Amino acid sequence: MIPYGRQDISQADIDAVVETLQSDFLTQGPAVERFEKALTDYCGAAFGVAANSATSALHIACLALGLGPGDLLWTSPITFVASANCGLYCGADVDFVDIDPETFNLSPVALERKLEAAHAAGRLPKVIVPVHMTGQSCDMAAIAALARRYGVRVIEDASHAIGGRYRDAPIGNCAFSDITVFSFHPVKIVTTAEGGAAMTNDPALAERMRLFRSHGVTRDERLMTRPADGPWYYQQIELGYNYRMTDLQAALGVSQMNRVDDYVARRHAIADRYDALLSGLPVKPPLRRTDGRSALHLYVIRLAAETLAAPGHRAVFEGLRARGVGVNLHYIPVHTQPYYEARGFAPGDFPEAEAYYAAAISLPMFPTLGEADQVRVVDALKEALAV
Ligand SMILES: *Cc1c(COP(=O)(O)O)cnc(C)c1O
Repeated sequence: MIPYGRQDISQADIDAVVETLQSDFLTQGPAVERFEKALTDYCGAAFGVAANSATSALHIACLALGLGPGDLLWTSPITFVASANCGLYCGADVDFVDIDPETFNLSPVALERKLEAAHAAGRLPKVIVPVHMTGQSCDMAAIAALARRYGVRVIEDASHAIGGRYRDAPIGNCAFSDITVFSFHPVKIVTTAEGGAAMTNDPALAERMRLFRSHGVTRDERLMTRPADGPWYYQQIELGYNYRMTDLQAALGVSQMNRVDDYVARRHAIADRYDALLSGLPVKPPLRRTDGRSALHLYVIRLAAETLAAPGHRAVFEGLRARGVGVNLHYIPVHTQPYYEARGFAPGDFPEAEAYYAAAISLPMFPTLGEADQVRVVDALKEALAV
C-alpha cells in the first residue's frame, strides 16, 4: 500500500536523537530551546512555545487569550476535530464558518456575513481559528481586517503549513494573527513524532502559554503573589497542564527543520507531476493560489459531477484502496461528528463543507514519493473511475 503520508527520517535525525539520549536532558531542556529558536528564526515570529502536540498548543493558545465559559470560538468545519475541541476544553462554545469551495479554507465572505449577524445579535466570538487547509494560507489579510473591526482574536491553525508562505512571508510570522500553531505529527511537513508549537509576537501571550504548558507553575518572582520563601520556591498561579515537549523530540525537530525548504520544494514537484498526470480526467486538481506558496501537506482532488453519479465517490475511494493506493479523506465536516451533532449541529448547516466532503479524496503526498509510484496512483485512479 502506498500511504497518503509518510515521515522522512535521515541519519542526521537519528544521530541528533541518540546524542540527546546520551546528554543530561531527556525532558524539556536545551534542545527545546534550540527548537524554539529554529522555529522563530525560520518564521520570523518573536516567540515560539513548543508543546507535546498541536492539540495542546491550540489549548494553551486559547487559554492565553482568556477564552472561557460563556465565550465563543469559531473555526472551519473542514479541519481535524482538534481545531474546534480546543474551544470546548476551555468551557467555551464552538461554531463554524463555511469554506470557500476552491481553497477549502474558511471563507472571508461567509465570515463577514456571520460576524455582521453575530454583532447584531450581541454574540460575537472571542476567538476565530482559521485553518490553512492542505498547507495553503487562508486569506489572512481579509480575516485580520474583519477580526480588527469586530474585536476578535485570531489563532491560525497552521498544522499543515510550516514551510508555506503568505504574501511572500513565512506562515507563522503572526503578521495577521495573535498566535499561529504548528503540528509536528509524522504525516505533517516536519516531525518530532508527537509535537506542536505556538508562535506569537506578544511577549505576554508567550509567557502565559509557557505557564499553561507546565502546570501553571512559575519560578519568576515578578509573577508571584508574595516574595519567594527561598531558592527552592515556586508558585502555582494558574491551573496548567503538563504539555511539555521532550528534548528527544526537540532534537529531532531541530534536525528536521534543516530540510523544511527541501521538503516543500519536493512536494511542489510532486504536485506539478500530479497536475500533469491528471489532465483530461474527470477530477478537479487542487487550486494553488498565487498570493502565497502552499506547504502542500495534502493533495486533494475532487471528483467531477459525472463521476459522483457513477461510479460514485465511495466506489472510487474503495477502488483506489483495493489497488494498493492508501488514499484518505481530509476531513469529515466537524459539525457532523456525533459529539457536535449532540451540541445542536445538523447536516445541512454548512453546505460548502458538506459538498466538499462528498467529492474529496487525498492522494498520496509525501516528499519521498517517487515518480513511478505517482504513475501507479494515477493508473489506479483511472481504473477506479472506469475511464
Ligand atoms: C494534525 C492536526 C491537528 C492536531 O495535531 P496534533 O499535533 O496531532 O495534535 C490540528 N489541526 C489540524 C488542522 C491538523 O491537521
